[in-house]
Amino acid sequence: MTNIIPRRRRIVRPLFWSDGLKRSTMEPSTAPGRMGCLLRRPAEKRMGGERRSERRSKMNRCVSMSRRGFLAFGGAAAAALATGSLTGCAPSMLQEGGSAEGSGGATSDVAVWAGGKVSATELEASAVEGEPIVDFVEELSFDVVVVGAGTAGLPAALAAHEAGASVAVLQKEASPVAQGMLAARVVKDRSTEAGMTAYLHELHELNAHRPRIDLLRAYVERSQEALEWYESKLAAAGFDACEESDSKDHVYADGNCYVQGLLFSDSMQAPTTALAEQAANDGVEFFYETPAVQLVTEGGSIVGVVGRTDDGEYKKFLASKGVVLATGDYQNNEAMVERYVPDAQDFGRKQINKTGDGHLMGLMAGAVMEPGSPSKMIHGGKGCFREEPFLALNLNGERFMYEDVPYGDRNTILRDQPEHRMVTLFDANYADQVYGWGSDPTVPTVANGTPEKIAAFVEDGTLLAADSIEELAQTVGLPVEATVASVRRYNELCAKGEDLDFGKASKYLRPVDTPPFYAMPREYAVSAILGGLLVNADGQCLNEEGEPIKGLYAAGNCSGPFYGRYDYSLSTMGLSVGRCITCGYLAGRAVAGA
Ligand SMILES: Cc1cc2nc3c(=O)[nH]c(=O)nc-3n(C[C@H](O)[C@H](O)[C@H](O)COP(=O)(O)OP(=O)(O)OC[C@H]3O[C@@H](n4cnc5c(N)ncnc54)[C@H](O)[C@@H]3O)c2cc1C
Repeated sequence: MTNIIPRRRRIVRPLFWSDGLKRSTMEPSTAPGRMGCLLRRPAEKRMGGERRSERRSKMNRCVSMSRRGFLAFGGAAAAALATGSLTGCAPSMLQEGGSAEGSGGATSDVAVWAGGKVSATELEASAVEGEPIVDFVEELSFDVVVVGAGTAGLPAALAAHEAGASVAVLQKEASPVAQGMLAARVVKDRSTEAGMTAYLHELHELNAHRPRIDLLRAYVERSQEALEWYESKLAAAGFDACEESDSKDHVYADGNCYVQGLLFSDSMQAPTTALAEQAANDGVEFFYETPAVQLVTEGGSIVGVVGRTDDGEYKKFLASKGVVLATGDYQNNEAMVERYVPDAQDFGRKQINKTGDGHLMGLMAGAVMEPGSPSKMIHGGKGCFREEPFLALNLNGERFMYEDVPYGDRNTILRDQPEHRMVTLFDANYADQVYGWGSDPTVPTVANGTPEKIAAFVEDGTLLAADSIEELAQTVGLPVEATVASVRRYNELCAKGEDLDFGKASKYLRPVDTPPFYAMPREYAVSAILGGLLVNADGQCLNEEGEPIKGLYAAGNCSGPFYGRYDYSLSTMGLSVGRCITCGYLAGRAVAGA
């Protein structure tokens, strides 16, 4: 029995996982494959050929003049820079957001931007450029520019457009990118006022009292409207594959709050793509493969954003009403993960190319991060029985925890286990056990298993079945001897009715002794990091003083604090997507002045 495995200890690699074809337990990332090539591209490569190198050195001159100017000429130089009167130097975040510091220059690890809010390493891992961009191949004018064609960005663009604004969407990739499948909304018509307030209280308490209550209130009060609107937009786009799933009536002493789950196809990718096509038909202009790399500031306000084309040239997108940052999270920016959510560092990532570009651009322009460490969503892939506390073994075939840990929190225990992976073992009696524990295997989510689903999972290789524990261990790639010993010990504890090793509740102690035996391998990886720029309920980014920055909005995982618990709570399934759609919709309306 081992509880904590030292991180560098040699582990036995299971055969099951070493076969790439069989790694079907991971929820698929819906991002197109070509995006990976943008990861950690050196700055010079991102800039393109010789012409861009020249431009870079011009920009460097501009920046070094800024720094030297501040040192040598103090306030006079600062004033000259602020008015743009030094030839060729546009107003930049150096003046607007703080100062560039550091002994090694902008590319040094110790260099920081925006008064320390952004490091050079964080910038280098992103699409964002710190040095002021002054040469543009084109300048375009819109009322609103939305950065990111994802779960929150599309509703923001459509809502702003519907409110009469001319809208551009800058998208980093060649197509819209979104993930997830289930979205939750509060159905006011089926809830009482007291029940909705109690639910608001519950969400706040569940998140360690850390969310801004106005953000939660906006979700509770407006998510029905936002998701009904979203559905109507989807219907107009010819997409109606949406069914109710995982709804929950939260019942309190004084009332109830009905939270409805909506399942959009098998991924948010399909509705997001349909919505983007519809938006383009309606007149929203999309600029694909054009990551936003820098905000355009003027006198403390945000007046536009710079997009970098695929061949490394820059376009200036002016936004008379404002820019909405909806770039998702920063799970693929290691330096940001290390700074803000270090306990997620060692886990794999389910998304690619989410480098916190919106967060960084906002910080450079005077916005601030939500306080404290953000919530993280680290889950163990698809399959069956993810919540059910069946026997779990690590890759060494050893039991390592009381299995009645909520699924969403399990990553904390797996953090110190080999490769953050585990195998759940159960036997032919699974259905009786699951029913006996109060779970309902007929609930139509990927988390549960009817006998038909179990058979299908065995068929597609997600779940492994065998007639003996030895054979099962071999098939899944666990050390046979250790696995057999662990199962034997577990069955002894079940016979005693007491988990003397880890203290799991005795009602969950059921022996694994009746063939066929099943093994469900799980690899835990980061689905999302749920923390962003500090915003108010309209999605306006706030500065250090808590005041809105004119022209700057953020939505989705680029904004917060909506959560606060160390791990994303699954008490409301689909909260993240439901919240992203709602806050995108609200920010889009607000920026357009609706
Ligand atoms: C596998 C998986 C399953 C999940 N399942 C669920 C679920 O069922 N229910 C749930 O509630 N949550 C789920 N989640 C979490 C949920 O999907 C996310 O929290 C949510 O979709 C985030 O939305 P967003 O708008 O913030 O970001 P995204 O939807 O990721 O959108 C961000 C967009 O910005 C673009 N972008 C990034 N940088 C730039 C730039 N510099 N310029 C231009 N564009 C840029 C990206 O390409 C992307 O299209 C899941 C997550 C994963 C990975």
